[in-house]
Amino acid sequence: MKRILSGIQPTNTLTLGNYLGAIKNWVGMQHESECFLFIADLHALTNPPEPEALRANTREVAATYIACGIDPEHAAIFVQSQIPAHAELSWLFSCLTPIGWLNRMTQFKDKSGKDKDAANAGLYVYPILMAADILLYHPSHVPVGEDQKQHLELARDVAGAFNRKYDVEHFKLPEPAIFGPATRIMSLRDGSKKMSKSDASDMSRINLTDDADTIANKIKKATSDSEMLPDNLAALEGRTEARNLINIYAALADITPEKVLAQFAGQGFGKFKPALAELCVEKLAPISTRLHALMQDTAALDALLAKGAARANTVAEKTLVDCKRIMGLLV
Ligand code: ATP
Ligand code: MG
Repeated sequence: MKRILSGIQPTNTLTLGNYLGAIKNWVGMQHESECFLFIADLHALTNPPEPEALRANTREVAATYIACGIDPEHAAIFVQSQIPAHAELSWLFSCLTPIGWLNRMTQFKDKSGKDKDAANAGLYVYPILMAADILLYHPSHVPVGEDQKQHLELARDVAGAFNRKYDVEHFKLPEPAIFGPATRIMSLRDGSKKMSKSDASDMSRINLTDDADTIANKIKKATSDSEMLPDNLAALEGRTEARNLINIYAALADITPEKVLAQFAGQGFGKFKPALAELCVEKLAPISTRLHALMQDTAALDALLAKGAARANTVAEKTLVDCKRIMGLLV
């Protein structure tokens, strides 16, 4: 059986990008795989949020997984900081990771802003923590969007470095699982930036909690162009915003982008956008209703997270002890 591991930072309410690029794929894989799905609260600390907001977002991300269709009886849903092995293995890996590898990471360059020296060290070593997150569970596959591919590559490199240094076959290299038209949903305002839950502009994204009017308004205002939609994908070359809206429609409807064009060829965005908004509301309304209901009972959510943590901890603790023994620490 495949084992998959994935997580999302509780930085804000999750977006359509997180749903289509990550959670929807987990839902599709959950019954043929053993799933470890976590809420990456330690990663969220790299841009320290207000404590109350972090607590609320952590629960909201867990509730979102379930509202989107993850079955908590089957998947282990857990909070990263509740498993001490993540931070501990991260230190062990830090001592095996050349700084040059970290200097290549594009996310640090993107997120650290202009003054690199003022960025916190957590943001810099973030990929090492992510390598620990992954390798603790010996997953066969890690479902990631395009934006996380470089981090998974680093996790594979760290696994290789560990195996070589200690002359062991301890870690198998996990494979990326990347899916369909939604691997990179772009911002609604700027087709060159990915949709992100921490973007300063709320208009750049659709939040999974947005109501029907808000969704329709954001799609109406989304950057597009004044040309008609063509009947083939090649003709969308260079029209990044148009391509993005077609991809979103395709991912929501579970059809190929070619099929979407077959349906809308010759029409302009005046026709396409209302159809996209309607589809988006139809798919997201049940999720936000369930999410809202789950958030009403935080005690039940916390109990679920405690169960998930107990399951995850058994696996993670064993990997950590194995690594410590291999590295010569007394265990
Ligand atoms: P942040 O701005 O806080 O980094 P984010 O929206 O990038 O938020 P992450 O927590 O970094 O979210 O990523 C969670 C998961 O969602 C990852 O698997 C990532 O690949 C996926 N993901 C994030 N944004 C997109 C997107 N725009 N399109 C497709 N997948 C995405
Ligand atoms: Mg991100």
